[in-house]
Amino acid sequence: MNVLELSAVHRIHGHGDTAVAAVRGIDLFVRPGELVAVMGPSGSGKSTVLNLAGGLDAPTRGEVRVEGRHLAQLSRTQLAELRRQRIGYVFQNFNLLPSLTAAENVALPLELDGMSPRRSRRLALAALAEVDLSGIGSRFPNQMSGGQQQRVAIARALVGERRLVLADEPTGALDSQTGEAVLELLRTRVDKGAAGLLVTHDSRHAGWADRVVFLRDGVVVDATSPLSRPESLLEPRA
Ligand code: ADP
Ligand code: MG
Repeated sequence: MNVLELSAVHRIHGHGDTAVAAVRGIDLFVRPGELVAVMGPSGSGKSTVLNLAGGLDAPTRGEVRVEGRHLAQLSRTQLAELRRQRIGYVFQNFNLLPSLTAAENVALPLELDGMSPRRSRRLALAALAEVDLSGIGSRFPNQMSGGQQQRVAIARALVGERRLVLADEPTGALDSQTGEAVLELLRTRVDKGAAGLLVTHDSRHAGWADRVVFLRDGVVVDATSPLSRPESLLEPRA
């Protein structure tokens, strides 16, 4: 089964004269073990697609399904639960809470979900170990490098049983070497069976993906086929 499925999805922001059609009829699916990159110019609808996939935004028309569940048919509570338990989100600016330690930041979604503090902490430390940050669980964000903060954010997106990992330019604020390391982590998790959707500007980063979908003005204008490697469509860097 596809972990993520967008069928004929449209998203219009606003009404009347000021309406903006951010997404205009997109079909997209991501299978378990698959990392799909979304590329396209600024304003082409990439973030909107990611927000729709994560249930942070709702389509004006069309259907979004996560693990077969039609998001529009879920109650608010069910949607919130699905988001906390099954969907991980990595933002460009990390979005860590400054007053919480690394381990507390990672444990937060689990605790919000009613898991005991003890068990959440154990899973959080395991998720930190998975991103090579075993020693820094008790540090606060301002005591970490940018790369470490982003790895904490990734640990938070992966902790527990998340099956869909959404990343919106997750390497934006990082130097290229640290950025590659972050993508490698994402790739590793996807290889273990999650589905990943990655928005990126950088064709080298898209090289970590199994497929690349190109957006322009809210529609898919090109896509590599599921069986071909994306390199064929990517411009080599000088
Ligand atoms: P990208 O991530 O590719 O830069 P976005 O998905 O952020 O593109 O935006 C797509 C289009 O929708 C842009 O024209 C943007 O200005 C518009 N848009 C996005 N979010 C909103 C919003 N909340 N209200 C109005 N317009 C929006
Ligand atoms: Mg964006």
